[in-house]
Parts: sequence; C-alpha cells; structure tokens
Amino acid sequence: MNLSKRVQRIKPSPTLAITAQAATLKAQGIDVVSFGAGEPDFDTPDNIKQAAIDAIKNGFTKYTAVGGIDELKEAIIHKIKTDLEINYSKQEILISNGGKHSLYNIAQVLFEEGDEVIIPAPYWVSYPDQVLLNDAQPIFVETTDQTHFKILPEQLEKAITQKTKAFILNTPSNPTGTAYSRDELLNLAKVLEKHKIFCIADEIYDKIVYNGFKHVSIASLSPAMKELTLIVNGASKAYSMTGWRMGYAAGPEKIIAAMAKVQGQVTSNVCSITQKACVEAFKGSQNFIAKMVSEFEKRRDMIVDGLNAIPGICCFKPQGAFYVFPNIQGLYGKKTPQHGLIESADSFANYLLQDEKVVVVPGEGFGAKDYMRLSYASSLKNIEEGLKRIQRAAGKLTS
Ligand SMILES: *Cc1c(COP(=O)(O)O)cnc(C)c1O
Repeated sequence: MNLSKRVQRIKPSPTLAITAQAATLKAQGIDVVSFGAGEPDFDTPDNIKQAAIDAIKNGFTKYTAVGGIDELKEAIIHKIKTDLEINYSKQEILISNGGKHSLYNIAQVLFEEGDEVIIPAPYWVSYPDQVLLNDAQPIFVETTDQTHFKILPEQLEKAITQKTKAFILNTPSNPTGTAYSRDELLNLAKVLEKHKIFCIADEIYDKIVYNGFKHVSIASLSPAMKELTLIVNGASKAYSMTGWRMGYAAGPEKIIAAMAKVQGQVTSNVCSITQKACVEAFKGSQNFIAKMVSEFEKRRDMIVDGLNAIPGICCFKPQGAFYVFPNIQGLYGKKTPQHGLIESADSFANYLLQDEKVVVVPGEGFGAKDYMRLSYASSLKNIEEGLKRIQRAAGKLTS
C-alpha cells in the first residue's frame, strides 16, 4: 500500500516531539526542567468552566450550525470591533476546531499546485506543512534578531512573484515573541495592496503583550486590506483553553463560505459545549487575562536577563507571546566535556538535555538554526532553576 505523495511531503510537528521526549524522561523519575511548553500553564478560568457545565446540564449537546452558533459569532464580532475597530458580519466569521484548523481551512480553499505562499522565518512549525499538504510551495524569507525578526517591506516585495497567492503574518509571533507596530504593518500593507496578495494574519497571541504594547491587526488599516486579510484567532492562548479546541477566522464572505463548505464535509461544528464556554470567555470578565499577562511579564524579564548574562547567548526582549528566542552562535566551536562540538542549536539542545536535563526547542524546526526557543509558560521557580542549569552547562564548554 502506497501512502499519498501529499502525506509524504510533511513531517511530524517537532515541538510536539520535544514535549513527548521531556514527558518520557519525567516518567522515568528524572528531574527535568522543561522550556518546551506551547501552552499557558494556567487553569481555564472558573466562569468559563461553569458555562460548559451549564451547557451539559441544559442538554446543549447536539450538532450546531457547521460554522458555529450565532451567539458565539456575535461575541467574536463584538470582540473584534472592540479590540481592532473592524466591523464583520456573521457571514464573515467561521468557528473551527482551533486556530490551527482555521488556518488549515484557509489553506484548503486558497492554495493549489503552482501557488507560492510567503512565510517569514522563523515561523510557526505548521505553516509550511499546511501549505505543502495543499500542493502549494512555501517561500521562506529569512529574518534575524537584527531586525527583531520582522520582515521588511523590501524583503516582502522581493519575494513576490506571479505565483504568489498569500503571505502569512504572525503577530505577536511564535517562536520569537516579536510583534509588529502599526507603522510596520502599514508598510507591509502597502506592498500587499499593490500586488493584491492575501494576508493570513495569525493573531492568536493578540492579548499576550507587554509594557503597554498595542496589538494592531493589518486588516484594520484600510478597507482594501480588510478585503485581503483573513484574521485567525481563538480561545487557546488568551483564556488558557488549548484542550477545548476553538478557533475562528474572520474575512471576506466568499472565502469564509468556501471554508464552511469544506468544514461541513470534514469535521462539522466545534463541540457544542466548547462553544458555550467560549461565549462566556469572550463576553464574561476579562480579569484573568491581565493577571496571566502580568505573571508572564515577570517571567519574561527574568528569562531574558538570565540568558543575556550567559556569555555566548544573546536574547532579544520580545513584546508578546510567552517565548524567547535567543541566538547561540557565540557558543559555536566550543566543546562539551564529552568532546561534542557545539555547531548548531540542535547540538546545544542535545547537550542541555543530556548533561543538565533541560528541555529547549532547537530553532531548526522553526527555520532558524542559530536560535533556540524557550517557553516561559512555567513557574518563576522552574525558570530560575533552568537558567542555573543552562549557565552551568555553558560554563563547562571549552574552546
Ligand atoms: C497556539 C497557536 C495557534 C493555534 O492553536 P489552537 O490551539 O489550534 O487554537 C496558532 N498559531 C500559533 C502561532 C500558535 O502558537
């Protein structure tokens, strides 16, 4: 039996692989410090849980409309209007099984063979594979910490060809935590409008920003840009609801209707109970977010300072999300006590795991081999211990 060419083009998610590796070590009783987490370490707020319990008790347990219940669409429309000052109608919203599923629906209805999709690197691991699954070609544009991992308008312009179908923009970003300002987005929007290129705007970290940074959506910059943008967001990160599986897309009616057609043949609606919980998430008290973000901010400051204090490691201070993405080139050419050579993030990550039982995600999987991703979605105490171990590991390297 031959598997399809389509599935052979893609690889398993490297971040999920690392998390599994850490879990295996932990299960063996080994004292692992993990910076691998891709989700908030907070519990889902009680008011949201209660809404789900009520939904079950009230028998709200059947199929709903494929694209989601009106009550939830209305809550999302209100959220977008309040946060981003953009007006959408219910026909311009589709609720799916996570932001990842929203992105996949978009890829299904927009991409085909011969299409190119521009993705700034470092990127979230699923973007290239979703493009490949839909027969199109990812085109990577490399960015570095020199530009705070932001693609410049001239880089975008240069990457555009006759075949370009879309540009994927993730702000605030996973894995780097960088976030684009309004002016930076305006400059990118000019290029996209000129060439009529779709923008897939993954804004899943919109609420997790620091020092008063204001998240802006590229869709809000002009009516033309609204017509060229598909906003993707969801409840996973802002409300610590990764297991509940709810995401949404907001964009032009024609594209949303096509996505609903696909979803109707694949998964149908998002869990009815989750939908009720998400109505409460978007409409209920938002105090949880402020508490979570202020905790994340303390951790960010600790981890950035701790990493920058280690010779050979250089860490950009991000404006959002809950990751840092330090450059480790300063350690290249050094040797571990077992005479292993540090020559990439992969080799350093392996050394950290073997010698100090610290889990970090090497940058290769994100398209950036000189960096590693550390998530600070874990306690200050864990972070402190992890930093101590990384410092010790770096100190044992010899030139
Ligand atoms: C977490 C995440 C998502 C979506 O996650 P879901 O749980 O599927 O909603 C989308 N994009 C990025 C960059 C993420 O980190």
